[in-house]
Amino acid sequence: KRKPLVAANWKMNGDRALVEVFTNALNQKCFSGLDVVLCPPFPYLSLFNAETFSIGGQDISHLKNGAHTGDVSVAMLQEMNCKYVIVGHSERREHHGETNEIVAEKAHRAVSEGLIPIICVGESLEVRKEGFVERFITEQLQAVVSVMSADILQQCVIAYEPIWAIGSGETATPEQAQEVHAFIRGFLADYDEAMASRVRIIYGGSAKPSNATELFKQTDVDGGLIGGASLNTDDFIAICQAA
Ligand code: 13P
Repeated sequence: KRKPLVAANWKMNGDRALVEVFTNALNQKCFSGLDVVLCPPFPYLSLFNAETFSIGGQDISHLKNGAHTGDVSVAMLQEMNCKYVIVGHSERREHHGETNEIVAEKAHRAVSEGLIPIICVGESLEVRKEGFVERFITEQLQAVVSVMSADILQQCVIAYEPIWAIGSGETATPEQAQEVHAFIRGFLADYDEAMASRVRIIYGGSAKPSNATELFKQTDVDGGLIGGASLNTDDFIAICQAA
């Protein structure tokens, strides 16, 4: 059985005070049989005193180090006690021109240097309306599997985040989520069945306490990547408890 994972993606939100509120609230909880991860903006990573949860970055460079102003390396995140890193979020793909190949390189660098990448995939509304969801996600995943062995890939987490559901209040139905999650697992199974059965595939896009239970009940939904609702301790903890 796969261990569920619930990750908070604060995006460019939060402040020092919120770090403290979350640290206190989460450290009072005992999350057994569940991985809880908080991904705040980079400047706050070192302020967490995380006991019952892990922390992660929201992005990393695909390069090791060097003259890359504004970028952050895997080694730097590790020094800040990160265990996870989000790669290929649709906001980075869209606003920072990250291609499938760059995202795959980021994931590969993260996992080969000891971080667990949360690799985001997901289609726009336009792609869904045209009926190309599977083709679109296949291209995103193909880039990833072509740079990693099954052994390495099974340590990664995949996040299915339909772009139309992100921050829109329009959550994918549990059936829509399950359909794509099952497709993703099937795609990975063609590559290596044992790996596919172990990889965690989490859902993101307007997940909240009122819909988390039904989403997490689906066979291939192993948790969530939470944006807006991860900025409120009560909401985020309720979502964790639903996993
Ligand atoms: P929302 O939960 O705000 O829709 O964001 C989802 C997301 O993009 C998490 O990475």
